[in-house]
Amino acid sequence: MSENHLFDRLLGAGDPVSTAIETEGRRLSYADLERETGRYANALVTLGVRPGDRVAVQVEKSAANLMLYLATVRAGAIFLPLNTAYTLNELAYFINDAEPALIVCDPAARKALGPLAGDVPVETLDRAGQGSLAAFAEIQPTRFETVERSADDLAAICYTSGTTGRSKGAMLTHRALASNAATLVDLWGFTAADVLIHALPTYHVHGLFVATNVLLMAGGSIILQPKFDPASVIAAMPRATALMGIPTFYTRLLAHEGLSDEAVAPMRLFISGSAPLLAQTHRDWTERTGKPILERYGMTETGMNTSNPYEGDRVAGSVGLPLPDVDLRIVDEQGGAEVPDGQIGVIEVRGPNVCAGYWRNREKTDEAFRPDGFFITGDLGVRDERGYVSIVGRGKDLIITGGLNVYPKEVEGEIDALPGVVESAVVGLPHADFGEAVTAVVAVGARTDLTEASVLEALAPRLARFKQPKRVLFVEDLPRNAMGKVQKALLRETHRALYA
Ligand code: AMP
Repeated sequence: MSENHLFDRLLGAGDPVSTAIETEGRRLSYADLERETGRYANALVTLGVRPGDRVAVQVEKSAANLMLYLATVRAGAIFLPLNTAYTLNELAYFINDAEPALIVCDPAARKALGPLAGDVPVETLDRAGQGSLAAFAEIQPTRFETVERSADDLAAICYTSGTTGRSKGAMLTHRALASNAATLVDLWGFTAADVLIHALPTYHVHGLFVATNVLLMAGGSIILQPKFDPASVIAAMPRATALMGIPTFYTRLLAHEGLSDEAVAPMRLFISGSAPLLAQTHRDWTERTGKPILERYGMTETGMNTSNPYEGDRVAGSVGLPLPDVDLRIVDEQGGAEVPDGQIGVIEVRGPNVCAGYWRNREKTDEAFRPDGFFITGDLGVRDERGYVSIVGRGKDLIITGGLNVYPKEVEGEIDALPGVVESAVVGLPHADFGEAVTAVVAVGARTDLTEASVLEALAPRLARFKQPKRVLFVEDLPRNAMGKVQKALLRETHRALYA
């Protein structure tokens, strides 16, 4: 086994006879994983994939999808997962940018993709794990000599889910992925006895790397569910020990009548990330289940950076402490100097988890890194005297109104505390006088008599005048992307003429 190779690290711990992945009545042991990834790796090589080549994959979630990921890494190639929601127009950009040696897509997309692919071979895989690639893998030998790689070689390229601007391909090395998984296994206490309910998408780092890598590296088992469905998650709890989710999972589970003390009894750990978990959700969950959610913070480019402790205070509204092998600092937005605890600034991180830069994009890579190797996350955060970090927003969400900075999170916090409010998003909209005008978009429950005037009246004594919204708009739900992030760019776009 090579310490440098992600594949060896992931499959090194599992007992050959124990279950690695269970999905829709099918069970794959660690020995099966070794054989299946061997077949897929042989298929890839036969199809012309060489070490360092990119394999672009836009398929539905399935065990075969994970075999393909592991086999790509095993063959020394670079896995390039693509969100199933991407349109042909977006795919054209990724194919052109990444120049894959092979494209794997859903059979239904095969025809439309043809012209985009040009000379690049296209194989298929569907949600049941069937398709031309599966058929070809099935007739391959199971034995495969894992292709040697160094820690600096790339295992994956993940395009950032940025809601504005062109996506950039974060280059993730074997070291970055293996070290981050090893750190989390340790920190969160994962062992071969763990069984994870996996209801996250596998085209995103949360489901692909955090969930899958951590469980495999620990030699544990994954209950792979095709998508998030609260009833199915609750039904799996008696056989499980852990759940990794985005905040929406937890709000939707809380709304489900099946969530009871008894249902959660076998579960030792509930983890949340990818988007801010409302402090209220954290408290409601603890009250209902007695098991405080462990919130952590990461991003495509860096993997996980901070986590609340496994043993110790899991603080609502905080993403916890830097991981043991991550250096984290909070710096002044303009000058780049470190700010004292309690002051808001931009979060920067350095560690083995951080990406090697953006694929074929020197300029964006240079912009993202400081000369001393720190990566500029673009997230605004604040650290308290105990070292706990809280995220207060994205740099680009910062509102500048009449020359004054307003951090949306602060205003949202006040609005969210009003009775009848489910959640809110505060954005800056173009305004002739102020440059940007603070604007609140508020999701309210079914029975509420909140009005624009009553919200503004309630905020008046609590926020400085310049932070108070100029307008309050009501909606049923805030728009979110697949990872549960509120799409502020979309809100800004939709309401851009509000003050025109
Ligand atoms: P992605 O690259 O899609 O994983 O998105 C990363 C971004 O998600 C981060 O830069 C943060 O803005 C946000 N994010 C991830 N985890 C959290 C969290 N626990 N709380 C607040 N924001 C988060």
